[in-house]
Amino acid sequence: MYQHYARPGPEDSDESTGHAVAILTVARDSRSVQVLDVNTDYQRLWGGTREEWLGATPTVVEQEAANEQILARLRGALNTNVERNFKGIGGREVSRQRDGSCRHIEWRITAMGACQHDAITLVLTQRDVTEQVENEAQLKQLATTDMLTGLVNRSQFDTTLRSELSRQDRYVRPLSLIMLDIDYFKDINDRYGHDVGDQVLVEMANLLKGNLRQVDYCARWGGEEFMLLAPETSLEQAVVLADKMRCVINTANFPTSGPITASFGVVEARPQESVKSIMKRVDDALYLAKEKGRDQVSPIELVKSTRFA
Ligand code: GH3
Ligand code: MG
Ligand code: MG
Repeated sequence: MYQHYARPGPEDSDESTGHAVAILTVARDSRSVQVLDVNTDYQRLWGGTREEWLGATPTVVEQEAANEQILARLRGALNTNVERNFKGIGGREVSRQRDGSCRHIEWRITAMGACQHDAITLVLTQRDVTEQVENEAQLKQLATTDMLTGLVNRSQFDTTLRSELSRQDRYVRPLSLIMLDIDYFKDINDRYGHDVGDQVLVEMANLLKGNLRQVDYCARWGGEEFMLLAPETSLEQAVVLADKMRCVINTANFPTSGPITASFGVVEARPQESVKSIMKRVDDALYLAKEKGRDQVSPIELVKSTRFA
């Protein structure tokens, strides 16, 4: 009856699904929802034969409890709308498969044709959008990640810094920023080649990640510069953290290049401080650490904070 909704042609024989369609009937008195008919894509999506589906409860998502919630939402929508004005409901659900994988299903239920006396006929359309969702996630990952080190990239860190600065303002909590730059990195490239330089950057990223708290952020800012953002951390605490990192780096084994040191600038965010201002201050602090001879931590404005006492 509704088989024409199925994608025609040779793709019919493969595993992919087009629009799965089920025609539903909702009894006016009991509000029970039953399948009147399904197309081949519906059978492909949820399994079972057309005959098995006739009269059954429709599947919108795999999990029974979530499915029941959607059907309850449907009944609610039918109750609150005069049936003639039912505009439909829809959503996107994650359906967990028995093998542990996830499928993302987009669905919509709309009214179909004239109402009968004792039942309302509806049409459920579904589409498996897993591939699209995964592609979007992959694109997002590419846009926010530094390809060489796998750390968050500059533009994503900028977004994070912006939101953490406003959170710090809202809740009046300390937030510190650390910028670090590998000392004499150009010499490593010159002496061992660019590939070894790249390897050092990867090892550095792993060292930083491995020595931070889960709540701290770590990003590659560019070249041989990295950023650490530490929420709930005062300037004094951030200096301790930076010095711990400095020691971790100068005692670490970099098998490809030999010993390495880094210099650190440290600042604590001021109330209502802009990204531009805090970036300028941390850059100034790093410059001081370089000036003082490298392999140093240089805080700016190490004054006892009374705000969080
Ligand atoms: P300083 O102690 O003053 O920081 O000296 P430095 O040599 O580390 O700083 P400088 O800015 O002179 O050189 C940084 C070098 O980093 C130059 C550049 O070629 C290199 N570099 C930037 N990005 C990459 C990268 O992705 N891979 C490699 N291998 N090298 C990079
Ligand atoms: Mg640099
Ligand atoms: Mg450098």
